[in-house]
Amino acid sequence: MKILVIEDELKTREYLKQGLSEQGYVVDTAADGIDGLHLAANIGYDVIILDIMLPGMDGISLLKSLRPSVKTPVIMLTAKDALNSRLEAFNCGADDYLIKPFSFLELLARLQVITQRGRSKEETNIYIGDLHIDLLARRVTRGKRRIDLTAKEFALLEVLARRRAQIVSKTVITELVWDICFDTNTNVVEATIKRLRAKLDQDGEPKLLHTIRGMGYVLELRS
Ligand code: CA
Repeated sequence: MKILVIEDELKTREYLKQGLSEQGYVVDTAADGIDGLHLAANIGYDVIILDIMLPGMDGISLLKSLRPSVKTPVIMLTAKDALNSRLEAFNCGADDYLIKPFSFLELLARLQVITQRGRSKEETNIYIGDLHIDLLARRVTRGKRRIDLTAKEFALLEVLARRRAQIVSKTVITELVWDICFDTNTNVVEATIKRLRAKLDQDGEPKLLHTIRGMGYVLELRS
């Protein structure tokens, strides 16, 4: 799940980036409306969190420029007394709003509602051999063995599992699991694959995570 946070207040921006990353979301940030619009229009996000009062271009104008071509759900952040801008936000196609200061738990709840809305028909449980991934509870088991994953390992597993039996390239993985500031020259993808594989495929178990040399990775049970 990829989220764009457009917010000029450094503290709020970093707080959201850290909090959402800990929940396993991949988070890009923009500090003004111009950068925000550029990212929102060119990169496929699952949700955009958009402040209304922004330098460069305000949140309402940004939303007007996005709609109707970009349909990504948008949660607006509004000041307490800005009732008019809240109404305007809904008229321009905002999906939800939060009044500042807001609780992080409430934001998470709204995010869950919005992302469920979009993916109601998407699977919430994936089974590959004896591997079971519960995408909602974010729980992974293999047979009776519980597998504890970090947020990044889980995000990587989810990307591979949703495309199971297909080869997923390092470029696609990088784009879906890491944020835009990610340095592609590092071997972080390989290192994360290695850690994930060590947790998934233990001695004596059929291997599920395969490397296809020069192409990428595939998650499948091979007979
Ligand atoms: Ca602001």
